[in-house]
Amino acid sequence: MTAYKCPVCDYKYDEEIGDLREGYPPGTKWEDVQDNWTCPDCGVREKVDFVQD
Ligand SMILES: [Zn+2]
Repeated sequence: MTAYKCPVCDYKYDEEIGDLREGYPPGTKWEDVQDNWTCPDCGVREKVDFVQD
């Protein structure tokens, strides 16, 4: 499992945890997150901007 973090805020998407409030249950792979998904915390960075943690 891998985690990806937002380059602007402290939000981190962990595949092991997912993000239920975003509709991604635990175990959801990063590649299954929508390409137009934006950071739920700051809203100014998109999936493509995230960096592997
Ligand atoms: Zn962010």
